[in-house]
Amino acid sequence: MPPRAIRVLSPETVAKIAAGEVVERPASVVKELVENSLDAGASQISVEVRGSGVSYIRVSDNGTGLAADEAEMAFQRHATSKITNLADLEGATTLGFRGEALPSIAQVAQVEMLTCGEVDAPGVNLAMREGRTVKREARACPQGTTVTVRDLFRNVPARLKFLKSATTENNQISNMVSQYCLAFPEVRFTLSIDGRNVLRTPGSGSLRDALAEVYGPEVAQAMLEIRANVGEAGLAPAVTGFVSPPSVTRAARNCLSFFVNRRWVQSRLLTGVVEKAYEGWLAVRRYPIVALNLSMSPALVDVNVHPAKREVRFAQEPVVFGTVHGVVRRVLMEKAPIPEMSPSAFAAPVEVGRAGETPLVTAGQRRVLPLMPEPARREIPVLRVLGQAAGTYVIAEGPDGLYLIDQHAAHERVLFDRVLSQSRERAVEVQSLLEPVAVELTPKQETLLADHREMMVQFGFSIDPFGDKTCLVRAVPSVLTGKRITNAVKETLDSLEGESDVLDGEDRMARSLACHGAVRAGQSLSQEEMRELVGQLERTTSPRTCPHGRPTMVHLSSIRLNREFGRT
Ligand code: ADP
Ligand code: MG
Repeated sequence: MPPRAIRVLSPETVAKIAAGEVVERPASVVKELVENSLDAGASQISVEVRGSGVSYIRVSDNGTGLAADEAEMAFQRHATSKITNLADLEGATTLGFRGEALPSIAQVAQVEMLTCGEVDAPGVNLAMREGRTVKREARACPQGTTVTVRDLFRNVPARLKFLKSATTENNQISNMVSQYCLAFPEVRFTLSIDGRNVLRTPGSGSLRDALAEVYGPEVAQAMLEIRANVGEAGLAPAVTGFVSPPSVTRAARNCLSFFVNRRWVQSRLLTGVVEKAYEGWLAVRRYPIVALNLSMSPALVDVNVHPAKREVRFAQEPVVFGTVHGVVRRVLMEKAPIPEMSPSAFAAPVEVGRAGETPLVTAGQRRVLPLMPEPARREIPVLRVLGQAAGTYVIAEGPDGLYLIDQHAAHERVLFDRVLSQSRERAVEVQSLLEPVAVELTPKQETLLADHREMMVQFGFSIDPFGDKTCLVRAVPSVLTGKRITNAVKETLDSLEGESDVLDGEDRMARSLACHGAVRAGQSLSQEEMRELVGQLERTTSPRTCPHGRPTMVHLSSIRLNREFGRT
């Protein structure tokens, strides 16, 4: 076969191909139009969709609008009011900046734009076909802009063929609008699909209000707030938003929303980081609900890596991920309620509740009760030890019922805090061994030791390579006194594999030492030892969970007890 001739594509074809990169499906049109409304400073945005967005999309706003003589410019490729040069791009805080959306949409649909840039001045109405102005007339309208898009992809049959069912396209659209509702709680959004009101946010400025619209009031009420303005000075982002307590989960990952400087981004890495923060709290294949905004200097994030700006690249990935992991983990440790014992088989489910307190009950999920109604600093109430059950659980009484404490998990928490703070203050308690212990290592453990010897020393080990595949341990952190050194050393090394940074490495190290040093399940404890343990637990940073995120205690409230015994 002879080679085919090379030809330059016609400008029309080029324009349609380029448009396809920006406008993938009806939801992308909604996205671009809503972003323009937000960039125009609108406080009210209404979105109306019919026929899965293919027949009709209309976005109206009360933003700045455009001057009558500039409206047509908006449809020229690479015409934008938002940046003027590449240097501006570095600091761009607007959602748009490429001047591609309107011309692209006008290539693949019939577009009308009614806009007015001045109060009490007439606006202009433009009709576009195939990217060209076919009608232009003055028309009275309030300040703001309304863009109407009809017959999307009629002239791009290939695209039309690849659209999914109406349900899927509508879901994509309402998901898209939901993301903006969460990113801009001060804006009043409405979304109607085929005449049905799907979303309506109050525009109160409160993210919790917006969450209530998107996920329902019960979920919104249960969400835990994050306000970590740690990043203001340095490279780390300031993280704000909400994450669900472990009792409120979903079966899919689609309720994790991330915003960078209020731009919605889809990032598998950020999702992974947050899932990791929930490690130990969630059952397999259960996912949290999250809405987090990272605000950071625009210079530290590149939003210009994807035609639809869906993905971003961070200049300081480890810092960003470490910060997000840390703040989520912290709020869970501090605020996740102590799980309450599940109702007995006989008890009819009854709403839990006290005066002035709304019960956090989610259908089909574990019943949870906030432990301390008053915003107290104490993380757990003062507990009085009653005894030990199964050689594993400490039974204690508090002001509000009974508590069962997992002695191993509780001790792990105590030791974890101690080990970590001692190593940070360079004041580790060390136990020298009478005889050095030789530990045989796998090749992988040998490498891990070579890479982390300094940290091992910082935590109180005196450990040296000793010939082939063996190391010699002369001293250990005193939490390991009387424990099986060989196991502790090998498993601690194993736990360091794949650590992401120094902080993560230290956490892993402390977790492993705490786990090896802690009392085992099945070990009987004296009354005195239990009192001591509970007292120490009360003084830790996060007494409700062990360092792996499992609960240290479960609670059987007085209310429950009374109810179970028919005393209410
Ligand atoms: P970009 O958003 O990247 O600048 P667009 O093609 O989306 O490019 O829009 C082009 C220009 O049209 C914008 O820069 C803005 O000046 C103007 N514009 C578009 N939509 C609106 C709107 N809803 N309100 C005011 N101006 C708008
Ligand atoms: Mg735009």
